[in-house]
Amino acid sequence: MACNSSACQSNCYRNQDDEATVEQDSLRTNKTDRLAATYGDSGDTHLCFKCKAKERMSSSEEGDDGRFCSDCFRSNLFAKFRQAVNSNAMISPSDKVLVAFSGGPCSRVALQFVHEMQVKAHKNFEASRDRSLHVFGVGVAYIDETSACPIPLHEIDRTIQTIQSVVSSLSPPIKDLHIVQIESVYSSNLSDGREKLKKLLDTVSDVTGKEDLISHLRMLSLQKIAAENGYNRLVLGTCTSRIACHVISSTVKGQGYSLPADIQYVDARWEVPVALPLRDCLAQELNMLCCADGLKTVELTKTSFSGINDLVSSFVALLQEENPSRESTIVRTAGKLTPFNFSRIPDLNESNGVPLATKRRQKRNNFKHVNSLSSETFCAVCNGPLNMSDVQTLRSFEAGQVSSILAGTCCSSCQFQILPKDSISQELLLSLLPPSMVARAMHGSPSNSNSLREKIQEFLLSDDEVES
Ligand SMILES: [Zn+2]
Ligand SMILES: [Zn+2]
Repeated sequence: MACNSSACQSNCYRNQDDEATVEQDSLRTNKTDRLAATYGDSGDTHLCFKCKAKERMSSSEEGDDGRFCSDCFRSNLFAKFRQAVNSNAMISPSDKVLVAFSGGPCSRVALQFVHEMQVKAHKNFEASRDRSLHVFGVGVAYIDETSACPIPLHEIDRTIQTIQSVVSSLSPPIKDLHIVQIESVYSSNLSDGREKLKKLLDTVSDVTGKEDLISHLRMLSLQKIAAENGYNRLVLGTCTSRIACHVISSTVKGQGYSLPADIQYVDARWEVPVALPLRDCLAQELNMLCCADGLKTVELTKTSFSGINDLVSSFVALLQEENPSRESTIVRTAGKLTPFNFSRIPDLNESNGVPLATKRRQKRNNFKHVNSLSSETFCAVCNGPLNMSDVQTLRSFEAGQVSSILAGTCCSSCQFQILPKDSISQELLLSLLPPSMVARAMHGSPSNSNSLREKIQEFLLSDDEVES
């Protein structure tokens, strides 16, 4: 059962002061107490470090579950989430937030925490005399990927039922649930989209390329839901462990230039800015919380892709087993790369009732981005920022070929793993890409885009097709 009411015993509604204390405490306790835990100077090694009253959650020597009782563990995790939200101005009272919920433990916790924040904001609203305080809106999105990878019907039914029951069991304010097929990136005509999606995936022979393409399409679907329903933030449950895997796999795939774009708290290169409030939480901790609080989760049986991504996941899992701080170390190290200028929430509108504290935080945060990289051109397929010098070289090399439209607007990694090698298959791929990717390719194409546009005229959507 979801933790969703005021009867919940889980400290969900404690006040801000408590959380601040928890944050500081957890920082302080992290190192010294871990040493103390190992050498047992506190006498009773079964008791929680924070409250010194209750039993620890587990006997693990590393990880917060081995240091805290379940209450302190929970409030520590929520504090990390809250810290990420507040110090990056992720959610302000006038926002409408879409939480991407796959059914897995990480996005389940993201949904739970966003919900708890909203409930608290709603309580403050009801308590305020003039009711002038805004409460941000929350919606939930689930992307049904049956058309992209074969999933047994009963399994997808079970997943959707669980998603529906989780969302409907959350206490008010009511949250809209959007269950959308991944092929909707093409148009509202689903059977047409399904056909195109199948053909598109068939043009990609590399297993890793196929898997990555599906995740790019998933992001496009989420963006589409958000834009069409008036959401201005997209919250993902991406945690430290996921980011650590992404850091290694991107490095392996030669995506070093664009890597800093994907691993920040905020990614505003999209029409609807993406926020990662669980960036500082480990998958193990989020799993643990779901178990401890009985948060319902559901996961599809994974069809093994046996590509780079799976290989890297098992490699990082092995590293983490050897040393439980490895995932955090990988993310912290990659975090030292210079971010892009879109790695923050764009300037907040002065007049929309945004509290002063949020604006101040934003100013402070923007100050941190003085030395950030700027990028105007993005990969047509993965939306990764392009290193302009690479693009120029490529264009001069392939000038005159129709295929240079895609080759000249794709990062080297997508070229290697997703783009077919011969130009006829490249043309086919271009004709099968969803409109938003084609638009990106056109935007990024060289200044003589008119002549190129003529060459690929038959693949372009006419205005009325775009509208439908
Ligand atoms: Zn405790
Ligand atoms: Zn790319």
